[in-house]
Amino acid sequence: LVEIHNVRKSYAGVEVLSGIDLTIEPGEVVTILGPSGSGKSTLLRTINHLESVDSGSVTVDGELIGYELRGDRLHELREREILQRRTQVGIVFQSFNLFPHLTALENVTEAPIALKRLSKDDARTSALGLLDRVGLAEKASAYPRQLSGGQQQRVAIARALALKPKVLLFDEPTSALDPELVGEVLDVIRDLAQLGTTLIIVTHEIGFAREVSDRVVFLDHGVVVEQGPPSDVLVNPQNPRTREFLAKVL
Ligand code: ATP
Ligand code: MG
Repeated sequence: LVEIHNVRKSYAGVEVLSGIDLTIEPGEVVTILGPSGSGKSTLLRTINHLESVDSGSVTVDGELIGYELRGDRLHELREREILQRRTQVGIVFQSFNLFPHLTALENVTEAPIALKRLSKDDARTSALGLLDRVGLAEKASAYPRQLSGGQQQRVAIARALALKPKVLLFDEPTSALDPELVGEVLDVIRDLAQLGTTLIIVTHEIGFAREVSDRVVFLDHGVVVEQGPPSDVLVNPQNPRTREFLAKVL
């Protein structure tokens, strides 16, 4: 479903992604682990073209993200087309990033109305269903500041789902939460995994990664150094850098 092919990315001459190849199957749940600065967030952000790539390509369901092929070269798409293709890929950030001046419901309906030309009524009906799914039906008219961090993050998940993305990305979705709120967000992600949603998750919650992932990918210095089922990578890592990392976080 997601094909990442030889993706390279540098900032100011420093290579952050050094030729990433990854294929993610429909319905697969993949967790990306790695030390701080290893390129996890940058990699996620290339998948929906919040970051451009220097070379290589990302396709989702056969469609190039952010670029089009002209002749044998990739050219960046125009903003409007980038936004349109990006609707294939949902993303949830560490810091929720809800629109503060919009209610929970309006946060969820905004993109479908703007990008998918959904009628307000249809967007609303669908958004109420999504808020119900994340356990927040009764908070539809609350503003972000009236919600706990865990509730805000669940709204952010409903918002990401509203565009019916083919794959959903999570960048440390529980890292900004008080410990007692982590569980309610992980429960929602676990439900999505069980429903067969294709998920790519950056997290430091190793126990959760072990429980929900079909595959764990270990990134270091912009390179995939090891990947495989959690029962291999997390229990019996082969690469010394994976071992060293796990020894620190477990
Ligand atoms: P963390 O676990 O701390 O979130 P990460 O694995 O997500 O780390 P990235 O955020 O992808 O790491 O960053 C990888 C490297 O790229 C870091 O050295 C970072 O400083 C650098 N970097 C990321 N974004 C930018 C940017 N916009 N401009 C310059 N350098 C950047
Ligand atoms: Mg990061």
